[in-house]
Amino acid sequence: MGRLRVVFDLDDTLYPERQFALCGFRACGDWARAEFGVEGVADEMTRLLDAGMLGKLFKAVLETHIPAHGPEHLNLLREVYRGAAAELTLFDDGAWALDHYGSKGPLGLITDGTQSVQRKKVGALALEPRFHEIVYTDALGADRAYFKPHPMAFERVAAAIGASGDRFVYVGDNPAKDFIAPNALGWTTVQVVRDGGIHDATKQIDGGAPQHQITSLTALPTILGI
Ligand SMILES: [Mg+2]
Repeated sequence: MGRLRVVFDLDDTLYPERQFALCGFRACGDWARAEFGVEGVADEMTRLLDAGMLGKLFKAVLETHIPAHGPEHLNLLREVYRGAAAELTLFDDGAWALDHYGSKGPLGLITDGTQSVQRKKVGALALEPRFHEIVYTDALGADRAYFKPHPMAFERVAAAIGASGDRFVYVGDNPAKDFIAPNALGWTTVQVVRDGGIHDATKQIDGGAPQHQITSLTALPTILGI
């Protein structure tokens, strides 16, 4: 059996994405107060998130709370959100897993999302020095062409941190996209199931079922053997 090479997802696998969302909502609230004299925008965005809304909540909050908004404000609001200063902390078991597997070999990270935002998260969590290879799928091509489940990021990380014959593992949280490519490439796939994750952790598409499910990354050694 080859060497073990562990590759992680970022959002809701290593740190709670909700933390980032709340930082962004606060910035949106400040913007709405300054531009329109409107209160309560951050609270409303949090309420919509908790009600399960995600991509559409920017439009929704403009319509309900900022009647004076124009068509240009939707993108502006999204930019304020993405530009927010991020104060983030790893999950305890995320920090543990990076220490544990980082001491055993080079680690990989594959993350979707707007590149500038994902880079900011990586910076805020001081993750750069912990990974041998970080792939921002947004940087691989335009229009989300190489976002998961496209296999390119997985092939790239495998080439950077391992060799054929190695045993690769992908640890993620989102069965709608995280496990399709690594399953097809013959990797071991592990879903960490988190309370309060931003994406629906039950939505699954063909080939997307994880081979293992755990509720804490501290359970990884029982699956991986080390
Ligand atoms: Mg994730």
